[in-house]
Amino acid sequence: MQLSFDQITIDPVYLFEERNIKLSILRLDKIHPVISGNKWFKLKYYLQEAKNSGKKMIVTFGGAWSNHIVAAAAACGEYDLSSAGIIRGEEPSLLSPTLMQAKDYGMQLHFISREEYKDNSIPAALGREDYYLINEGGYGPLGAQGAEEITDYVKDDFTHYCCAVGTGTMMAGLINRTRPTQQVIGISVLRNNFQLEQEVAALVHNKYHLWKIIHEYHFGGYAKHSAALIEFMNDFYKQTSIPTDFVYTGKLFFAVSELIKDNFFPAGSKLLVVHSGGLQGNRSLEKGTLIY
Ligand SMILES: *Cc1c(COP(=O)(O)O)cnc(C)c1O
Repeated sequence: MQLSFDQITIDPVYLFEERNIKLSILRLDKIHPVISGNKWFKLKYYLQEAKNSGKKMIVTFGGAWSNHIVAAAAACGEYDLSSAGIIRGEEPSLLSPTLMQAKDYGMQLHFISREEYKDNSIPAALGREDYYLINEGGYGPLGAQGAEEITDYVKDDFTHYCCAVGTGTMMAGLINRTRPTQQVIGISVLRNNFQLEQEVAALVHNKYHLWKIIHEYHFGGYAKHSAALIEFMNDFYKQTSIPTDFVYTGKLFFAVSELIKDNFFPAGSKLLVVHSGGLQGNRSLEKGTLIY
């Protein structure tokens, strides 16, 4: 598997010049078409710790279209670890392309009911193994530590970082590495997940930094979408040639555009929006929905 960290660029987008807002996009989506942007960063230190503690296998959780599951499967291959994915819901007769790919990377898949999934229950089949557990989405201090390294690819000075928020791990990593004069704005892709502030704060160690999570752009909830979101993503692609995914980065760019129009950012702001990848998830949309 070829990961192309040297392909990461910062692309300027000239859509908001009139409002005196400079917008640049950190293209973590260019690392790999499937192993999406932030997941590799978040997994790195977990896998190192698993190796260092002599574990041979990792176990983690996700849904049928999970970027985290497929990235974990691929990354374990690179680290010479075996992997098991605990997948939410009944086993379908036909696996999603995401799960097929995870399987191709060598991951064993275990399907559990939504109720069992809520309790993070580990299937009996895995009970005897000496495995290393990684939280869903890589939430935790080591995930945030890995996400800090996203900022290594940023040389210019920005007033704000903007990112999509699922578990908040990436956002915490960004907060930990930015300077106190820089603000980190997170767009939650979950509906009314007001525990997020606490979960991010638990991973942040510079307590005086300015950050804010915005909860108004979930489009109905996790992996939900509307015609307006899809239209925005297609328009954004026409204008910038940058593809986004409907679960995370589409909502992020939509939100940032709206916030700019609402004068949320002071004139003269320089925004860095993190394109955290996730494009593989668009495969769950009906063909023809997106123009790319
Ligand atoms: C997982 C993911 C996120 C969310 O990252 P968290 O650290 O869980 O907040 C954002 N964007 C994409 C594309 C993702 O796959």
